Amino acid sequence: MDTRADRLARAVRDHPLVIEERTDHRCVAGAHSYLADGRVVCWVLPARPSTDEPAQAHAVDAELATQPVPPRLRARWSEALEGGTDRFWALWCATEVLAKLADEPMVMLVHRAPVTASPVSRGGVEVHWLVRRVDDVVVAHGLSWATVVDRSRAT
Ligand SMILES: [Zn+2]
Repeated sequence: MDTRADRLARAVRDHPLVIEERTDHRCVAGAHSYLADGRVVCWVLPARPSTDEPAQAHAVDAELATQPVPPRLRARWSEALEGGTDRFWALWCATEVLAKLADEPMVMLVHRAPVTASPVSRGGVEVHWLVRRVDDVVVAHGLSWATVVDRSRAT
């Protein structure tokens, strides 16, 4: 069985992240997220994956696991904080990945409850995501597939 969740897990396993100083990073093809301490998190996937149903796009979002949660976010996403700061940033990063892949502003998504389950369908895409800890960084990886066929392109 080759599900989309499997493909995401494999992409994460086979294509490791680069986490380094932002000023040292040279890359054109990667998906990026910038940390508060000046580092960049970069995830590069091959342009032509060897599957018959390639993901439309990929994204990554990362935060420092131990940084404090800003008070305005504490108030808004109090339920996410019940699992601790780690849990909060995990859901934050997952929601940021959805924002990037569904092309919805994070400022809008913050007004709703955080994303807690994968996959999630929004804005014409199905987003599969997973969150993990890489040293002191919480990272969410996401892949998206279109849910709406663009018939205007058919002839
Ligand atoms: Zn890069």
